[in-house]
Amino acid sequence: MPDDTKAQQLQHLAEQLVNLEDSPLFTYRQENGYYPVPGEGNPDAKLMFIGEAPGASEAETGRPFVGRAGQLLDDLLRGIGLERKDVFITNIVKDRPPANRDPSQAEIACYAPFLTRQIEIVQPEIIATLGRFSMVFMIRQYHLPGKDQKISQLHGQPLEGQTDFGPIRLFPLYHPAAAFYNRSLTPVLESDFQKLGRQL
Ligand code: URA
Repeated sequence: MPDDTKAQQLQHLAEQLVNLEDSPLFTYRQENGYYPVPGEGNPDAKLMFIGEAPGASEAETGRPFVGRAGQLLDDLLRGIGLERKDVFITNIVKDRPPANRDPSQAEIACYAPFLTRQIEIVQPEIIATLGRFSMVFMIRQYHLPGKDQKISQLHGQPLEGQTDFGPIRLFPLYHPAAAFYNRSLTPVLESDFQKLGRQL
């Protein structure tokens, strides 16, 4: 529905997720009374964050990054003068994988069209990926440089690319939850967010 507002188009997409019976995670969602987590934020955001997949808190509420990693994300955003309402936050995979395991390739493939459509609707100038899964997805999707490099090499530096709607700047970041397992990543995340803030 091309005449709909961005908010309406995003809402329509979110509604399609509710009945996504073809998803490998649909049965697990239903059995646990979970919600899909489409993503939320400013439909006109210049900056979009893409994480990996919802955890328990997110699947229980239908909202992205509301658990522990989300609190750290909120702090990091505040550190560069931003609030959640200024940005758009989503994940590659829109349902919780069991026991928070890594998403499978089949799961990523199932939800990829939804993420691609969200990007086309919001048309952000900068996409900040949180963790390696969304970084690898974006590099492949938009044929960006850095294909064979690791997140330890690519974090905190912009990668420029082109989309059908114009130029895009990818800004790879570590996943906030990585700092819970490796404390030395906290200052790295903080410094990368400062660099991200200077891109805006
Ligand atoms: N981790 C993610 O990657 N996404 C969320 O929404 C929450 C935790």
